Amino acid sequence: SREWHLVARPHGWPKAEDFALREAAVAAPAEGRILVRNKYFSVDPYMRGRMNDVKSYTPPFKLDHPMDGGAVGEVIASNAEGFAVGDHVLHGLGWREIADLPAKHAVKVDPEIAPLSAYLGVLGMPGLTAYAGLFEVASFKEGDAVFVSGAAGAVGSQVGQMAKLKGASRVIGSAGSDEKVKLLVEEYGFDAAFNYKNGPVRDQLKAAAPDGIDVYFDNVGGEHLEAAISSLNVHGRATICGMIAQYNATEPTPGPNNMAMIIGKRLRLQGVLVSDHSDLQPQFVQEVAGWLASGELKFQETKVEGIENGYDAFVGLLRGENTGKMIVSLV
Ligand code: NDP
Repeated sequence: SREWHLVARPHGWPKAEDFALREAAVAAPAEGRILVRNKYFSVDPYMRGRMNDVKSYTPPFKLDHPMDGGAVGEVIASNAEGFAVGDHVLHGLGWREIADLPAKHAVKVDPEIAPLSAYLGVLGMPGLTAYAGLFEVASFKEGDAVFVSGAAGAVGSQVGQMAKLKGASRVIGSAGSDEKVKLLVEEYGFDAAFNYKNGPVRDQLKAAAPDGIDVYFDNVGGEHLEAAISSLNVHGRATICGMIAQYNATEPTPGPNNMAMIIGKRLRLQGVLVSDHSDLQPQFVQEVAGWLASGELKFQETKVEGIENGYDAFVGLLRGENTGKMIVSLV
């Protein structure tokens, strides 16, 4: 079975030489364990942080060890009660063809309810991040005007649509290409969207939200956050979810220079970590499964085929080559 190892810690943008696809032996599962043939694994922006040797909310990847992350696959051997060959499971040992793990770390998923890859995106971690970050952390309420950056991505595309479904007065999104902007307005029902590469974010946001915004869902940081602080109305709230504009930076990046506005406008900026919100999981799955079944909530996936393209998929994600969830397909 092949698996991706991190072999050097990237400085700035990851390079192909920082990674290696290596062979690993596969043995029959020990007591309490299962073997899973991965069908899809996830590449996510947070993994860039785990490539650095710094203390964070998730431990760094070890050099010359397989990387890990979300994956879904089929049980091919079981030495654990309750798991049978042919079961489909979601688990945390991605970046490899075959995973050997304790059954207690696997969650059974039903391919009849949704395509298996959806458990890595719209029905999985990014979907819950959108749900918790908008409804709990940002205290979204009907009538709010919402701005989300990274709006054509896995998290952002769900934030905008969920806000619309719950009665936002206006939803604005930003993304990095004109095609993505078109998708936001024409497919996902955003009221306005702009390409942040076409001009200053502050000016484009002011034009898209002339009456200001009440909620900002930040996936990007930097110039986007500064623009949002300028456009937020009194008592506005921002969920700080990601700062992808700085993940590969080797020098300090420009930050918001208008933080004093937080005082006068009594803004609340609050970070979110999806792992804090597992209590919302049942409610999230029920509500999102309903919206998917009715067709009210749409999602896209960008599937990169073949384990050998795992590195390309990861770097492509950081470059914006994905629309919706970026997934590596092994089927
Ligand atoms: P996405 O599907 O949104 O993919 C990343 C996207 O980021 C790219 O498609 C690209 O789109 C955009 N991007 C890359 N560089 C820049 C830049 N310099 N400026 C603006 N946009 C950029 O990923 P996810 O939905 O999985 O994650 C979105 C954010 O949420 C990330 O910041 C991630 O770290 C964070 N996150 C946080 C979690 C938490 O618990 N706090 C959990 C999950 C995700 P484009 O073409 O538009 O540039």
